Amino acid sequence: MAYSYDDQNIFAKILRGEIPNSTVLETEHSLAFRDIQPQAPTHVLVIPKGPYVCFDHFAQAASDAEIVDYVRAVGEVCKMEGLEADGFRLIANAGRDGVQEVPHLHVHILAGRPLGRMLS
Ligand code: IMP
Repeated sequence: MAYSYDDQNIFAKILRGEIPNSTVLETEHSLAFRDIQPQAPTHVLVIPKGPYVCFDHFAQAASDAEIVDYVRAVGEVCKMEGLEADGFRLIANAGRDGVQEVPHLHVHILAGRPLGRMLS
């Protein structure tokens, strides 16, 4: 599938500095910031700086350097937020059925309370 990136989405605006964010970590290719409507005591979003709509778009089109940077950024945020002891959940919604609201790849890092079972 060919993805078309909407550069007016809110995370593109955050990356351009057009709207503020609560940054947790910035690396060469990635940005992590706090979700504006947190669903758990820790709720951080990690996005690549490149124009990727969702996870499979990123996996297909990003460079190895971007992918390594992004995966390491997710791990670094978990470490910075002290999530190793009690655990956390990563979620990457995609498309209509995944109920993705913002069409720029983001991983949600959720932690700080028991999150319940998602799959059974
Ligand atoms: P999605 O449903 O996986 O696309 O999640 C989008 C997330 O972006 C939601 O959890 C929103 O609360 C969050 N969000 C939307 N606008 C902003 C913002 O300006 N700053 C931080 N988080 C945002």
